[in-house]
Amino acid sequence: MAPDPRIAVCPGSYDPVTNGHVDIISRASQMFDEVIVAVVNASVRKNKSLFDAEERIGFIERATAHLDNVRIEPFATLVVDFARERGARAIVKGLRAISDFEYELEMNQLNRSLASDVESIYLMASPQYSFLSSSGVKEIATFGGDVSKLVPEEVALRLKEALGR
Ligand code: ADP
Repeated sequence: MAPDPRIAVCPGSYDPVTNGHVDIISRASQMFDEVIVAVVNASVRKNKSLFDAEERIGFIERATAHLDNVRIEPFATLVVDFARERGARAIVKGLRAISDFEYELEMNQLNRSLASDVESIYLMASPQYSFLSSSGVKEIATFGGDVSKLVPEEVALRLKEALGR
């Protein structure tokens, strides 16, 4: 009998996806049989997202179309519950700076207390993306800056439409 596939979940708001996210998703796709990119579709976050879940999912689908073992799904539950329902034993996240570390350490302790069978794995951000965030990209786009090296091409175009002055 074939062993169970090793499945990882990469959760996030991806508002919008950046090249840093794509880097983490592709690295995870080399380590696992299947990767599910879980896109937050809930109003738990105080700040409203710029793009709705459907559009955020479309951006990631096209940016990862070359990765056969990656699929994208919306979620509106606890990440650990979502992971369990999909048979995933790992949550994979990217770590940029110390600020990410503090937040992730807290989230990790909480998730561990909820589901000790789901392990969280952290991939260090690639140096060229370690200061790249969705919120930073939105800020640059708001002031007419060039984000074409930071996000997939269609995302750069949509940011210009949505935020450009
Ligand atoms: P953001 O913090 O950019 O709004 P998300 O909430 O969508 O991102 O984060 C999803 C995951 O991707 C998190 O684990 C986050 O740490 C990671 N991540 C975000 N940007 C990068 C990057 N530039 N390099 C590596 N990991 C990243």
